[in-house]
Amino acid sequence: MSAPLTPARGSERTDKPSRYAPSHIAGNAETLTPLQRELIGRAAELGPAFEARAAAYDRDATFPFENYADLRASGLLGICVPREYGGLGADFATYVMVAAEIGRWCGATALSFNMHVSSCMWSGFIADALEMTAEQRAEHHRIRTQHYRRIVEQGQVYAQPFSEGGAAAAGAAPWGTVARKVEGGGGGYVINGRKIFASLAGAADWYGVLCTLERPGQEGRGTRRDSMYLAVPAGAPGLEIYGDWDPLGMRATVSRNLAFKDVFVPEDARLMPEGLYYQAASRFPHMFATLSPTYMGIAQAAYDFSVKYLRAELPGMPPVKRRMYPTKQIAVAEMRVKLEATRALFLQTAREARVDPDKDARMRLYAAHYTIMENANDLARLAIRTCGGQSMLKSLPLERLYRDSRCGSLMLPWTAELCLDRLGRECLYEAGESDEQIE
Ligand SMILES: Cc1cc2nc3c(=O)[nH]c(=O)nc-3n(C[C@H](O)[C@H](O)[C@H](O)COP(=O)(O)OP(=O)(O)OC[C@H]3O[C@@H](n4cnc5c(N)ncnc54)[C@H](O)[C@@H]3O)c2cc1C
Repeated sequence: MSAPLTPARGSERTDKPSRYAPSHIAGNAETLTPLQRELIGRAAELGPAFEARAAAYDRDATFPFENYADLRASGLLGICVPREYGGLGADFATYVMVAAEIGRWCGATALSFNMHVSSCMWSGFIADALEMTAEQRAEHHRIRTQHYRRIVEQGQVYAQPFSEGGAAAAGAAPWGTVARKVEGGGGGYVINGRKIFASLAGAADWYGVLCTLERPGQEGRGTRRDSMYLAVPAGAPGLEIYGDWDPLGMRATVSRNLAFKDVFVPEDARLMPEGLYYQAASRFPHMFATLSPTYMGIAQAAYDFSVKYLRAELPGMPPVKRRMYPTKQIAVAEMRVKLEATRALFLQTAREARVDPDKDARMRLYAAHYTIMENANDLARLAIRTCGGQSMLKSLPLERLYRDSRCGSLMLPWTAELCLDRLGRECLYEAGESDEQIE
């Protein structure tokens, strides 16, 4: 078939609805549970409004409060709150598919939403899978009842300040932010330190802070085993939000810095019992793989954009088709191959989340996380190269997808570099081996 080399360029704009039917974010929807189908459907219903608002939030680097009002109204703020506490009771696989669907429409909303959901997941089904004494479990139940009530009944939102700009967020050192245990007045903790890149800064009702517990007489000698996860209310005396926020991408996460100066929180601030975070980090690695679903969504969005663009079905664009060129067909085929490979790894590892995964499962998880983060950016890059100059204008979403997609591989604890680092070591060393023993 001979294709016209120069398509007629009209000045009129496309306003016909697209006949292109984008893929379900989880591929074959028949493989999903009824709850997965329903919750992904809820996110998909919110999506077009998120997409319509995304450009303004991105331009102004402001927080998408309207999107959060929608998430609240839809019940999705309680997605990983267990059912017995009034939540939707989603498991890991269900949540990450919903997160990917949100990321497809607004990456920044999906990314900050993940910080909130992690506070429910870590204190919820992950804590349930770990070892605790009966007394700790009962106390955890009492405390998390309050935490979940705030989310389910009052629609409150939790941030998750983790990063500090040192080795702690990579898991290589204890948190520099410390919590000193204090007795009296019901007891509690006094927090001092600082966090960088706290998504939801200024928008959250609570900040779930990772810090090192210092017992009396032990100052400066806490280890990673002494990690604590404490909820600090917005507006707590001594909590300050500071610094500019004008980044390349993910601008609507508003990830500013936090300083804690003698911030007191009561014992009920414990989102996990003392010592449990370290156990979770050692035994439930999927807890760190919840950032990549956002980027799975961005990968899908970059692909969907390209197809609609080449079919001349983007609203507001001149109806100039570009799909007839073999070079475009090859390029979009390569994008589809990359997208499906990314999705396959995403879905496989989403369904493998469990306590104490074996070594192969852990290595698959690093490989999947790395692949999603890197391929999202590569798909956005290919989309711009394939669609061409007009596609990267600020009036279209692709350049935002490109910038947002770049941020994924930079996120600790599993940056692209650190995934390779861990994977490389585990490929070549079995548990307990060192070079001295091998030689
Ligand atoms: C949009 C956005 C939102 C974010 N939101 C949050 C949030 O809500 N909460 C939060 O806690 N953090 C958040 N972060 C922070 C993020 O997780 C990282 O902590 C941050 O990007 C690290 O930046 P850095 O330059 O300080 O990294 P550095 O610590 O300087 O590391 C730079 C690179 O060096 C490598 N590296 C670091 N440590 C080691 C090591 N021990 N061994 C080998 N290599 C190493 C890593 O590959 C890393 O990418 C966000 C980041 C972005 C971009």
